[in-house]
Amino acid sequence: MRGIHVEAAGLLLAGTFVAFAQTGNISVSVDATRVPQKLLHVDEVLPVQAGPLTLYYPKWIPGEHGPDGPVSNVTGLKFDADGRTIPWKRDLLDVWTFHVDIPAGTTKLHASYDYIESAGFSATDKLLVLEWSEVVLYPAGTPSDKLTYDAKLKVPEGWKFGTSLEVAGRDGSEASFTPIAVELRVDSPVITGEYYRSIDLTPPGEPIHHEIDLVADSAVALNMSPEVQKGLTNLVAESGKLFGTRHYRDYHFLLTLSDHVAHFGLEHHQSNDSRLPERVLLEPSAAFMVGSLLPHEFVHSWNGKFRRPAHLTSSDYARPMQDDLLWGSEGLTEYLGPMLAARSGLWTPEQYRSSLAAIAGDLGPGRPGRTWRPLLDTAVGVPGIRPARGWADWVRGTDYYPEGDLLWLEAATIINRESKGRKEIDDFCHMFHGGPNDGPQVKTYTFEQLVDGLNAVAPYDWAGFFKERLNSVSPEPPLGGIENGGWKVTYTAEPIKLPGRRGNVGDEYSIGLSLGPDGAVNESIVGGPAFQAGIGSGMKLVGVNEHIYTHDVLEDAIQSGQPISLLVVADDYFKTFTVDYKGGPRYPHMAREEGKPDELDARIKARAGAQ
Ligand SMILES: [Zn+2]
Repeated sequence: MRGIHVEAAGLLLAGTFVAFAQTGNISVSVDATRVPQKLLHVDEVLPVQAGPLTLYYPKWIPGEHGPDGPVSNVTGLKFDADGRTIPWKRDLLDVWTFHVDIPAGTTKLHASYDYIESAGFSATDKLLVLEWSEVVLYPAGTPSDKLTYDAKLKVPEGWKFGTSLEVAGRDGSEASFTPIAVELRVDSPVITGEYYRSIDLTPPGEPIHHEIDLVADSAVALNMSPEVQKGLTNLVAESGKLFGTRHYRDYHFLLTLSDHVAHFGLEHHQSNDSRLPERVLLEPSAAFMVGSLLPHEFVHSWNGKFRRPAHLTSSDYARPMQDDLLWGSEGLTEYLGPMLAARSGLWTPEQYRSSLAAIAGDLGPGRPGRTWRPLLDTAVGVPGIRPARGWADWVRGTDYYPEGDLLWLEAATIINRESKGRKEIDDFCHMFHGGPNDGPQVKTYTFEQLVDGLNAVAPYDWAGFFKERLNSVSPEPPLGGIENGGWKVTYTAEPIKLPGRRGNVGDEYSIGLSLGPDGAVNESIVGGPAFQAGIGSGMKLVGVNEHIYTHDVLEDAIQSGQPISLLVVADDYFKTFTVDYKGGPRYPHMAREEGKPDELDARIKARAGAQ
């Protein structure tokens, strides 16, 4: 264990964490009553003994794939024991690490600090998403599954909460949770808010309880339609069919609806922290939007949490993670999530296909990044490489998600083909993600074990299959799965009909510009027609063929099939560029390849018989 920590920080001297007393629980109390002012107060008490003590603030958070622990948001840090202030020092080589010297005779160390809920991230006037990794310090030298924490949370008067944690007691607006290892504590966020609702999603005959807990910035935003509720209940049933087992005691979808939080999802063993715009459930596209996020995060309970790449599995939060198998944990999840969304009726088959076409269009041809940077490197580079705004197509972003989807779609069609229709991706999921339900557990895997798992279902050169695609610098994205499935990607003048689809505002597939609603050039694709004319990311379109810019005017100009004169603002200057593009509007779509069986449709049909 110590070796792990020495390797982790690369700097710890022997004996720097001798002062953590291995007996007794650590207790952490979070006062969230000042959430509207964007502050949490944390009090933590650790059993200690005399000597030097090293404390970590979590740095490598599971599911985040990089050293992102928000230590900048920790302020007002103070330590005391028996009424005396204990000085602290930050480590010279690692800003997430703190050192204190515990005086003789001291048995309890009290740490006190505020955590700043950065505006636009996890807290609003009406709600909070509490990730415990943000509000714990933990002693070096003990693995995170061996450190037991008592925890209390005090919320503003009248707020309710949802979590997969077991509640041990309540006292007014303060709840205490059953003591558990910090590993599971960090894996079990709490959502709390003035406007809260929970809905049972357990399908008939399912022995394990499933629910969705919602918090929102308004009461009306909690109104989930019966269709979405049915789709989510179907999702639970379909996940049971796909994997044949579960690895949790019960499951909570934690959904936060707000325009003032970051929109993303973070997976956990027994819950997921998903965040969408406030009024998403009230929109006609509610099922699609919910289906775009929640099935992915739910699948992670099996793929990413239970089965986890060995290099992404760490005994604490200080040891660096290696991201080379993210195309397995995220890529396969990105394939299975939409497949389950379609099987459960949250997505229509047309939406499933349109989504695949959009992915194929977004990944190329004509996207320059893939000609220098292999897919594997988009995963390996995650801890340090975040493309500057406007340069995602040249640098490449987190392509192991969408391209991972295509990769696993192709793998699924190969399983069918090689097994002569006797096996399918479901058989792989049953086998690879199966086993008894002993609650939240981790079973790690390596590249070789993944390949062995696939070979056990359908013998094939799986190692060669993945290595070729992971290391390719071809301008063409891997479309073998779409083609094996009896479809092909074509480009027509018809815009993509997917809710929230940026391609309907931008013109990336024609003149190579992704535009904001006000004409801001979010991205000028390097090598594309607009880029060749001189337009760069960050400029702003203000005129089209001597007419003030509106998106309709631009669409008319693209439709004309004539070169287009664009007036842009570049920093403080007006500039005019002529884009020599005559190809008309262009958007990716799927078309049937007649004569081939429709394997895509076969794979997204409901299996659980719940629809
Ligand atoms: Zn994911």
